[in-house]
Amino acid sequence: MSTFFMPTKIIKGENAVTSNPDSLILGSRAFIVTGKSSGKLSGALSDVKKVLEDRKIPYCVYDKIENNPEISSMATASCVCREFGADFIIAIGGGSPLDAAKAIAVYTVNEPREGTDFTLYSIFDGKYKNKPLPMCAIPTTAGTGSEVTPYSILTLHKEQTKRSFSSPEVFFKNAFLDGKYTQGLPKQVARNTAVDAMCHLIEGYTNKRATDMTDYMALEGLRILGKHLHSLYTGNFTRDICTELLFASSIGGIVISQTGTTIVHSMGYQLTYFKDIPHGMANGHLIYEYLLRVNDVLPDKVTFVLSALGLENLTDFKNYITKITPRTVIFTTSELEAFVKTSIKARNAASCPFPISEEIELEIYKSSLL
Ligand code: NAP
Ligand code: ZN
Repeated sequence: MSTFFMPTKIIKGENAVTSNPDSLILGSRAFIVTGKSSGKLSGALSDVKKVLEDRKIPYCVYDKIENNPEISSMATASCVCREFGADFIIAIGGGSPLDAAKAIAVYTVNEPREGTDFTLYSIFDGKYKNKPLPMCAIPTTAGTGSEVTPYSILTLHKEQTKRSFSSPEVFFKNAFLDGKYTQGLPKQVARNTAVDAMCHLIEGYTNKRATDMTDYMALEGLRILGKHLHSLYTGNFTRDICTELLFASSIGGIVISQTGTTIVHSMGYQLTYFKDIPHGMANGHLIYEYLLRVNDVLPDKVTFVLSALGLENLTDFKNYITKITPRTVIFTTSELEAFVKTSIKARNAASCPFPISEEIELEIYKSSLL
């Protein structure tokens, strides 16, 4: 038996935002959640403001979202949202602002207070007394697929890692995919985020929870990425290519919404938390050693992954990934031993298609990073 659930309406193509005001406006007062630069540099913020101003919808722009959003700053942002009296949220940016919007949507209507039955950490329960505010998403990176997932990944200093919460209530109602918002991405951000999308597709396809439906979608997403491997390397993108990459990223998000990710993600979180390596690049450092081990248990699936990407063999895969997510950070064995103690506890280890142990994770870290 398998199930498939994805309630987000996806509006894809030129001027998706400005041509669809009714889908953007989900209430009478808007809280716009974005990063310091993503909203402005992508042009999405000015498009959104124009639509809201034309319809005379009051709005508040909250552009203080940091990369890898931290849990307590989400509660701080929700106070601003509550004070403004917003009844819907528009999220603009990469995975960080999109994930932040999900947490803010929960906290605004479920105020966390120590000593009550809803504290900051209660968000990880995934069930909320009051329904989170409705939200729209405008991705300005093509990688996380957060616009179509029920996940939000937050940084927890207390546990020195990142952890995701998940709830069907935090799916965005509508998502707008327009390549004009990702066309100006810095080259390395475009590469890192595309590798994140590739990892979602590969980890979903090789996941113990994969289904016929997710397999079908994952291979199609990989085929789209495969067409653009060269552009990702050179950094030359047309608006249409960017829209296709956004589409592949959303397909990746839809796939992991059903399957979850595997150890590439849980092991990657340590590289981001302790070494400040961007999320997609962290996954890029680990994906080859993962795929090598998948090849021992699911060789046919690895063959299909490579052929969808248009690559001959695993060595070509390794060479390509190393070229677009080059390693510049130095690691020590004792650091990697410490990372394993946290990464092994993650839930997604159970979805890995080969048996997992501290020794195997350490082997993957060492072969990938030393
Ligand atoms: P990001 O952290 O959202 O953004 C990376 C950088 O790109 C930031 O400096 C951002 O600037 C900049 N940027 C974004 N769009 C831009 C544009 N159009 N032009 C110029 N600069 C732009 O990176 P991300 O890789 O998209 O998201 C990573 C986060 O998503 C991580 O926290 C990860 O754990 C999470 N994630 C979530 C899911 C999910 O299912 N929810 C899945 C995978 C990953 P500003 O910050 O200054 O705006
Ligand atoms: Zn990811």
